[in-house]
Amino acid sequence: MITVEQALDYVSESARPLAPTQVKLGAALGLRLQESIVSPIDSPPFDKALLDGYAVIANDDAPTRDVIEQVIAGGVPHRAVVPGATINVMTGAPLPDGADAIVKHEDVTLVDEQTIQMPAAGVAADTGILRRGAAFHNGQEVLSAGRYLSAIDLALLAEVGRAEVTVTPRPRVAVLSTGNELVECGQPVGPGQICNSNGPMLLALLESARASTMDLGIGPDEPNELRRLMQQGLQADVLLATGGVSAGVMDLVPGVLQDLGVRQVFHKVRMKPGKPVWFGELEQDGRRTLVLGMPGNPVSTLVSFEVFVKPMLKVLAGGEFEPPQPLRASLTTNIGHRGKRPTYYPSRIDFGTRKEGLPTVETLAWRGSADLAALTRANALTILPAGDYQYEPGTEVDVLTLS
Ligand code: AMP
Ligand code: MG
Repeated sequence: MITVEQALDYVSESARPLAPTQVKLGAALGLRLQESIVSPIDSPPFDKALLDGYAVIANDDAPTRDVIEQVIAGGVPHRAVVPGATINVMTGAPLPDGADAIVKHEDVTLVDEQTIQMPAAGVAADTGILRRGAAFHNGQEVLSAGRYLSAIDLALLAEVGRAEVTVTPRPRVAVLSTGNELVECGQPVGPGQICNSNGPMLLALLESARASTMDLGIGPDEPNELRRLMQQGLQADVLLATGGVSAGVMDLVPGVLQDLGVRQVFHKVRMKPGKPVWFGELEQDGRRTLVLGMPGNPVSTLVSFEVFVKPMLKVLAGGEFEPPQPLRASLTTNIGHRGKRPTYYPSRIDFGTRKEGLPTVETLAWRGSADLAALTRANALTILPAGDYQYEPGTEVDVLTLS
């Protein structure tokens, strides 16, 4: 049986970044930019009023000024400011010709409807104005390729008039929960049946990982129907199936996948939970689909997602492969371990309470891979190495944080 590290090497060999495509701004949040954005405009595009007030000539000595025009944002001045005159401008309006300062509305006194009294201190040139091109110039690179687009980046793209950008798209991930015992949450649960909890969990994990999802619902332990559903799933970039990958008589998933031409890369990894995990790839129509068959117990599914799916999605989304990065933490509990497989143990890490500079971590009461309830308190998985031993509080351990 291969180790987690070997399995991750295989995943990194199989995962390829998706081809860049154009997407609309509204769909670009969090995606990796694959072009350099050069502004076709100056920003601001004209000398611009930064406040509501009066455009004046700064070194004009006249104590009062005649208001000759009013310009709102979106409008343009039709007259020029000359000595003794002023134009009333609103924030965002273009600076009228002749003017070189804006006096704040609150700093002037209205003599009458057409005349203002200047503040005693006067006004310095350039006050209240953002000059054309002060933020950036036409021809200047404003965003470089490779960054993950934030909300602010999207605003900047909009400012320079880019309605679409070239990015690595979101990976499309199909989710299929297999098992004769499963019913969709909300449906009547008969004897021997349970609700499908993996489906909603995976769809939510994928949502937070910025993948786009294809929900294939529940597949029975029956080869023809599984084949039909998996064929649909193979249209996606990744197919995640849960259940049916162990050694039981109804564990049909690997066989059906291989019938569909999916090449097995590995089956079974030395880890707990998650041992029966199956990984394969299919090349068709110049596209590659990666397939992960995860054991059906919800905690196994979660651990397989954290360990294998997240790094895989990062590569598909245009990033560099990075295996899960554990942190060092100081154990606060007694925990025993037995067996040849490292265990990913539901835990609670506390960054506020430190011991010798390390965050502390508590292993939680847990009844194994079917015990999802214990996981609701967990924010991390302690990685207990293979072997038979007892850890005391104060032991330094590796911990994977959960998102
Ligand atoms: P399997 O991997 O198919 O052998 O399933 C292992 C265990 O996980 C069994 O107890 C299943 O009933 C349970 N299980 C499988 N799929 C799901 C699911 N989607 N939601 C909740 N439990 C599941
Ligand atoms: Mg099953």
